Amino acid sequence: MNTLPQIRLKPGKEASLQRFHPWVFSGAIASDTSGLEEGQTVEVYAHDHTYLGTGHFQPGSIAVRIFSFQQQPIDAAFWESRLLQALSLRQSAGLLQQAHTNMFRLVHGEGDGFPGLIVDVYNGLAVLQCHSMGFYRMRELITHLLLKLPGIKLRAVYDKSAHSLPFPARPHAQDAYLHGQPEEWVASEYGDQYYIEVEQGQKTGFFIDQRENRRLLRQYAAGRSLLNAFCYTGGFSVAALRGQAAAVTSVDSSQYALELCDKNVSLNFGQQAPHQSLATNAFEMLNQIDQQYDLIVLDPPAFAKHHKVLSRALKGYRKINRRAIAQIRPNGILFTFSCSQAVSRDAFRKTIFTSAALAGRKVRILHQLSQPADHPISIYHPEGEYLKGLVLAVE
Ligand code: SAH
Repeated sequence: MNTLPQIRLKPGKEASLQRFHPWVFSGAIASDTSGLEEGQTVEVYAHDHTYLGTGHFQPGSIAVRIFSFQQQPIDAAFWESRLLQALSLRQSAGLLQQAHTNMFRLVHGEGDGFPGLIVDVYNGLAVLQCHSMGFYRMRELITHLLLKLPGIKLRAVYDKSAHSLPFPARPHAQDAYLHGQPEEWVASEYGDQYYIEVEQGQKTGFFIDQRENRRLLRQYAAGRSLLNAFCYTGGFSVAALRGQAAAVTSVDSSQYALELCDKNVSLNFGQQAPHQSLATNAFEMLNQIDQQYDLIVLDPPAFAKHHKVLSRALKGYRKINRRAIAQIRPNGILFTFSCSQAVSRDAFRKTIFTSAALAGRKVRILHQLSQPADHPISIYHPEGEYLKGLVLAVE
């Protein structure tokens, strides 16, 4: 018997759901939703009463996040099978069998049919980050199911949703271990070791999404002098040192980030590594680097969190890239990224084109980079594509 509350759309508002786009915007809804609870599971129907999908209700602009386009029982078995599918995708991508890598994203929101949930795995620790109340209300069940998953041997599950949940739930949420105890978490990526600062760190503790791009940087590092601007925990710095970089300078405006970066460099290479870290504003520093570096990484935070601030964000990218391209040593290599979802691949490339033209140097594109297979993008949900990068050779 079906007891789920039903939501009916306005006429003509069903097309995107029929194409498996998982979001229902509040403006598309005809029914009164005032009696619904935040995070409640609801069924969505077209105006002509055709069933469209089942999802979590959330007051706000995205009113429902659909997780099933088929009418079926939504129970523990449903979610277990979803998690097993997510695990199997990581297995196919070769992420579970490798001795040198024991961290990966297990659940990437809409890309894995969990709209509003992120789960990252760090060598025995799973970190949950809920972006909707629907999954936050299910965190105990998800924890139970994660602990049952074969092949990943979790010792702990940590919930880190206090800053990712929508208001008004956010002020009441507290980050906590849902299973297991705090430990000093260390995970490896292609043999590089990193402390995972799960409680204090940004995101779930580490930027797993740059894994393949860090690996690529290793290949370009030998004998070069690297400036890693916006370094955070120093992933690109460690990767470059592993690739025999001659010298590495890590820059971040956060002293806390630099402490993590220094700790990670020491963990891998001891105190004697050719590495220095500088707490400063990367925008200003890039004004005066002259020709000190022949390898530069620019991986700034998301300048544009939404479309309204897009033009300001593009100016930011133009500024730092122009400065880097103008001052990198001849035959230098620039790894430049944008993790702003609102900045399209095309817009980013045009911005880099403008930066190069303003700098007046010859620039070639060597690689076009993206997010890795454990951050899959549903083809029906292009909003899931956020990370883009270019590797440039500057003559
Ligand atoms: N490249 C990192 C992730 C970067 S996150 C990695 O691979 O893990 C963005 C970082 O930029 C944060 O650590 C933040 O503290 C830093 N940041 C933000 N604004 C900055 C600025 N103006 N100058 C220097 N660092 C800045």
